[in-house]
Amino acid sequence: MKRAIFPGTFDPFTVGHYSIVTRGLTLFDEIVIGIGTNQSKKTLFSVEKRLEMIHQAFDGNPRVRVESYNSLTVDFALAVEAGFILRGLRSVGDFEYERTIGDTNRILTGLETVILFTESAYSHISSTVARDLISYGKDISSFLPPNVKI
Ligand code: ADP
Repeated sequence: MKRAIFPGTFDPFTVGHYSIVTRGLTLFDEIVIGIGTNQSKKTLFSVEKRLEMIHQAFDGNPRVRVESYNSLTVDFALAVEAGFILRGLRSVGDFEYERTIGDTNRILTGLETVILFTESAYSHISSTVARDLISYGKDISSFLPPNVKI
């Protein structure tokens, strides 16, 4: 059984995140989406709302679970007995950050990070831009996975 975690803030969970999980299911038997809640940054969506949105996105798919955690990401991975950390990459901007945390996580525990490049149609999609649009009252349904409502 190959199990990966897909950790993130998911504020909100976007079609870009959805694509990474869907494609990750071709590599892993099970993906546990982990909503990290230990960061000092303030979020727009509550943990409960983010859990609900992700449940809507993967409604009934037995190979996808979602949990929140407030520990180190590697400790969450070990707690759910995952062997891999799945992440997505949009740009060189993402690259340096992902490399640093990927290296740190491997040095701490031996866990490998598997990175998928974004689908080009989603390279502009980010939770930050979605939140900005919301603050100006704009519709962000094209940023969200099918079936997800905010
Ligand atoms: P974090 O705060 O940990 O970066 P995010 O919720 O912003 O959490 O992102 C979680 C993961 O999803 C990260 O690996 C990020 O690079 C990736 N990601 C975010 N948006 C996209 C996208 N549009 N396409 C592919 N991967 C993405």
